[in-house]
Amino acid sequence: MGTQESLAVAAKRPTPTPKALIYQKFGSKACYRTEEILQSADNDCLGLVIPQQTNSVYRCYLDLPELSVTSDTFSRKKDAEQAAAQIAIEKLGIQSTINNPTPQEAWNELVARVSGVFTDEFLSSSHPLIGHFRVAFGRVGDYYGMLPISAIAACDVKANNLCKIIDPKTESDPLSVTSLILKAVKMSGSICLTDGKLWIQKQGPYSPEALQSLLDRYSVSMGCIQLEAIHIPCSIEEHVETLTLDVSDNQYYLDEIAKKLNVADSSQILVSRTVGKASSEMKLYFPNLEAPFLASISSDIHANVEGNIKMEPILNKRASYLSCQNIYGDAILANIGYKWKSPDLFYEDISLCSYYRMLLNKVPDGYYKLSREAILAAELPTSFTPRSNWKGPTPRDLLCVFCRQHRLSEPIFSVRSLSSPETSSELSEMCKKSKSSKLNEEIEMADGGAADVIDKDMGKSGSFRCEVKILSRSQEPIVVCSLADTYRKENDAIQSSAFKVLVWLNKLFKQLDMPMEKLFSFGCAEDINVYPLNFSREFATCLSIYGVKQNYSLKRCSSLGSLCINQPHIKQENGMILLNIEGRDSGVFPSPGSLTCISYVVALVRKGESSKYCLESNDEFEFEIGTGAVINQLEACVTQLSVNQAAQFSIELPSKDLILAAAGESAKHLSRSNLWNCYLDYTVKVLRVSEALEDRMEQALFSPPLSKQRVQFAVAHINESRATTLVDFGCGSGSLLELLLEHTTTIEKIVGVDLSRKGLIRAAKILHQKLSSNSLMQTSIRTAVLYDGSITDFDARLYGFDVGTCLEVIEHMEEDQACLFGDVVLSSFCPNALIVSTPNYEYNSILHRSTIPNKEDDSEEKSAPCKFRNHDHKFEWTREQFNRWATDLALRHNYSVEFSGVGGSGDVEPGFASQIAVFRRNSSREAGKCWKMEESSQPYELIWEWTDSSRSAL
Ligand code: SAH
Ligand code: MG
Repeated sequence: MGTQESLAVAAKRPTPTPKALIYQKFGSKACYRTEEILQSADNDCLGLVIPQQTNSVYRCYLDLPELSVTSDTFSRKKDAEQAAAQIAIEKLGIQSTINNPTPQEAWNELVARVSGVFTDEFLSSSHPLIGHFRVAFGRVGDYYGMLPISAIAACDVKANNLCKIIDPKTESDPLSVTSLILKAVKMSGSICLTDGKLWIQKQGPYSPEALQSLLDRYSVSMGCIQLEAIHIPCSIEEHVETLTLDVSDNQYYLDEIAKKLNVADSSQILVSRTVGKASSEMKLYFPNLEAPFLASISSDIHANVEGNIKMEPILNKRASYLSCQNIYGDAILANIGYKWKSPDLFYEDISLCSYYRMLLNKVPDGYYKLSREAILAAELPTSFTPRSNWKGPTPRDLLCVFCRQHRLSEPIFSVRSLSSPETSSELSEMCKKSKSSKLNEEIEMADGGAADVIDKDMGKSGSFRCEVKILSRSQEPIVVCSLADTYRKENDAIQSSAFKVLVWLNKLFKQLDMPMEKLFSFGCAEDINVYPLNFSREFATCLSIYGVKQNYSLKRCSSLGSLCINQPHIKQENGMILLNIEGRDSGVFPSPGSLTCISYVVALVRKGESSKYCLESNDEFEFEIGTGAVINQLEACVTQLSVNQAAQFSIELPSKDLILAAAGESAKHLSRSNLWNCYLDYTVKVLRVSEALEDRMEQALFSPPLSKQRVQFAVAHINESRATTLVDFGCGSGSLLELLLEHTTTIEKIVGVDLSRKGLIRAAKILHQKLSSNSLMQTSIRTAVLYDGSITDFDARLYGFDVGTCLEVIEHMEEDQACLFGDVVLSSFCPNALIVSTPNYEYNSILHRSTIPNKEDDSEEKSAPCKFRNHDHKFEWTREQFNRWATDLALRHNYSVEFSGVGGSGDVEPGFASQIAVFRRNSSREAGKCWKMEESSQPYELIWEWTDSSRSAL
């Protein structure tokens, strides 16, 4: 086990991890062995030649001098090791506090540590500093055998950790680390400093054997080494660019960096902590402007240092933001250094792209975009459904990454089981770790298990509620989110609350320049408690960079001026945008709740030029329609296509950071080029659509499908009443209106209202096509109109129709809105008849059984209240609830009501699958009072209108 790693972990957390504790006590005498156990998947089918899919889990054996223990199995190796260590700790009764030194003890240890580095024994040990010594003794001249103080600050994790205990400020300030180490050097009698410089060496000579062993170990010249690093200028106006470090022929890498930073030598640079992956050597290097002063004091020359005027250091905002430390002046980000085991210099290029990806990782939705490899297409969804439709990392993982990126504590999830409130379990560090892997599996398996928010009076037993806390490194609260919602599964509660915090953070990050006073109220609206002071302290660099960035991007935007992208592929027709669509309409199209798989290419195009520059492409990208999982324009495009169709659209450039993060290798080239007058061009093709859960269920059980049966029900009613005008409230993509064209009816005028533009556009296209084609000459329909509006608002143009339909709509509204709609429609729209359908909640158990056979938690499924059919449903009523609503409503407005339904039978339990109420007006319309007053009110927006002039003239 890596000593470096365990110590780093120990210092970062208020309590060390079990492994770190074991290390403190047993050092290298602790021996971990992990065993991989292959488990064949459960559905093993005898006689199959094809190997079954296997999962592997790990078990860890830990051998200590006094004890051997074995862990449970875990899906991650790390978890198994920590668990084994935890068992050993419990068995041995080790207390974690014994090993936490006081600042004074840490100070003594630091002095001892620095002295220890300059000894014969150290030279023959293995440590990243050995590489530096090797260079030091290969050097000729003044600095023979000397280390720059920056080498210790950069490489010795132990010294760094001690500094953090002595002065917590060193956590965020590399300069203070160097000052402390320097002080320790001066205290130690065995090391000396060069006059006026920050080079240090052993006071006396080394033994010849120690020197020889050092030189023997590494004597091969590495030849020609050039690597790409990133130059981050202090001034935010200057571009971040790559630069090449040349460390050929064993040249000392710190010297090369010093040269590039324009400082005298490598003792005058400061080094940040590791940025990015912990396993990398990626660090920021920047000038130590205090160096001459520190050095002069060290050699007891209190007089002013000649030629050096103390400069006020200027914060490098970008570098500070990246590292969460104070970085001053121009900085270089390089991935180079000596590692523990290997004697060779380790180095890796850093591309501009990876720099921009690191930046992207720091915003709440960045990791989501990155891990979906869809930087320019994906967005953090706006709703969470922990079932197979959720793609990408779970909200909990996303939140953990966010906290890590900002060097905060791991988020704390406190789950409360409402059945036994005393057992509020705060997941401890350890158990959180082991759980998280289990939880992830659970989400992947929870196919079809929509997150069911059980309404308050139903969540009697086994309901979970979760609170999330985000704490600073020093355990001060920053954000606390207490959700009132309860969930049937613990994991749903955790994921949903993590999601809530994420969405909130994401919103906040888009407006980080808001005044701090507003921050508090910004959280309140969402059950989120913000501690503005702690927040602004922790996010100080973040706030400063975003403040500046916003100005910066404003400038950039205005330079784009009135860039109006001329979109050759989008036609304006009747005020709505139509895409130029390629391919035949297959009739299978994405609808809300359906999982859609697309391929796409995003290219950078300069206005007026034909060449395209591909930035991002995906052959298969799957997302759920209606959850905001992709950028708006992309979803708007996709919902107008059917399977196998393709289309193209253009959008204005998003921020340059995003483009460079997506650009891959070409980022270097792009960063210098001017993006003025460029736009992004998306080419999209729909590959597959799998229907929403609701549709799947309805189709699995009914033939013809329930949706068809609902329409047939409406048609029968229309013909029976000889209606000529019909309004479809919540028409969606026009399924009812479309089918009406195919039936022979008495209807002459059809009107659809919805507030979904996407649905309306789809409806307009289909109706337009069908009405214009000759095959429908026999239809009686003369006029068709589509409006954009909310059916809870009255529009006088829809007053007094013969029939109103409202099929499977009310459950998509909040209950009070559904009630409002009922009142508005019967009191103001006053149709002769109104047909309302909505799911029968009691029927759900049958639907679920038919589509999700032998689920692992089948028994639980039966006892617990059932899920809704579609996650967009705000409620689903039992027959009794629906009857009560409809009966009261009819009574209030002088209508009669009759109950019916489709799917199943009204006489057999549990009734129809889809319940229907038919309202008929009793009184004459003239008695209605409201509509005259509101005659002029026409809030709906006309989306599309079709009249058959030839036929209406007949
Ligand atoms: N009636 C259609 C669509 C049902 S889906 C069918 O049977 O296929 C529910 C529809 O109700 C969605 O298209 C949604 O946009 C719409 N809707 C929800 N609330 C609405 C409101 N307040 N006003 C208008 N439409 C609404
Ligand atoms: Mg519905």
